[in-house]
Amino acid sequence: MDFETDRLVDGQKAHIEDFGQHEQSIRPDRLEGFIGQDKLKQNLRIFIESAKKRSKSLDHIIFHGPPGLGKTTLAQIISKEMETGFRSTSGPIIEKSGDLAAILTSLEKGDVLFIDEIHRLPTAVEEVLYPAMEDFQLDIIIGDGPSARTVKIDLPEFTLVGATTRAGMLSNPLRDRFGVHMRMEFYTSEELAIIVANASVKIGIQADSEGCFEIARRARGTPRIANRLLRRVADFATVQNNGVIDKAMADIALKALDVDSLGLDKNDYRYLNAILDKFNGGPVGVETIAAAIGESKDTIEDMIEPFLIQQGFIQRTPRGRVVLPAAYQHLNREVPKKLVDQLELF
Ligand code: ADP
Repeated sequence: MDFETDRLVDGQKAHIEDFGQHEQSIRPDRLEGFIGQDKLKQNLRIFIESAKKRSKSLDHIIFHGPPGLGKTTLAQIISKEMETGFRSTSGPIIEKSGDLAAILTSLEKGDVLFIDEIHRLPTAVEEVLYPAMEDFQLDIIIGDGPSARTVKIDLPEFTLVGATTRAGMLSNPLRDRFGVHMRMEFYTSEELAIIVANASVKIGIQADSEGCFEIARRARGTPRIANRLLRRVADFATVQNNGVIDKAMADIALKALDVDSLGLDKNDYRYLNAILDKFNGGPVGVETIAAAIGESKDTIEDMIEPFLIQQGFIQRTPRGRVVLPAAYQHLNREVPKKLVDQLELF
């Protein structure tokens, strides 16, 4: 069975409403409205204020963390706070150096250029970025063979904001050219409940605090998932509960949508059950799991594992993935004595 492309509880932009107007309409556009990530926000505020005071462009920033945690939103907020223009593109879209050169030459002073999934830029394109980031210069090669020559073009000062789901995938030269590295953390249920409450006002649906919390609790620490669940629960509430989301309504809707009490869905169950049933709870290599459940390694590493690790359900060890006691308990399975002994050893 294929990974469900319209999976409700993954942070990836997958649903039609995650693009364009829908998502844009509930995006906070100032740091003040951006909930959570407090430490990161505090630092960002200082960097922005300092750059503004010195009338300089902000240093290049890289955000890393799982999909749906607010990297794009923060990039937009930075441009709003800096009162500059915003350009957005993504690694896989830029195929040739010329495509990137065209974007860079069209920038204006101070602009924020956001490159999502920056780890997926082709190497040749990435190399165009190095002088652009470092010296605000574009090296263009004219002609080829012995008569080829390099022409340097000055670019306006700009701020590159990169986003990547995996910091480890970034090449060293690119990583080193970012002055600021910011790691996004999963959100607490309390923070997500505020995000859900704010979004419910924006989409015009009535939700009480317990209803918001019930959605938040099952959103895998991820605002995009919280907002998506809110929309689906809102559909149920509109048809079955006079448009009001309370705890009971949220619970009924989320059960109907196959999202469990922690936000785990069928894909998580398939992953965990495969390790438990086929590999005795692990350790087992991710490639082997991928083959067993018919998923790509990337899908597993980006979309299934981060939340399970954060929940203490699995552990990545040098010998492979191991299912931890918390997962056995959540799945109502007995924790093997062997595992308890092993963990005590550490
Ligand atoms: P990413 O770029 O990390 O995949 P986005 O910035 O596109 O994530 O955020 C996904 C959705 O979640 C957006 O609709 C955005 O409005 C919402 N969102 C993300 N972070 C926050 C936050 N801290 N507060 C409120 N809404 C947020």
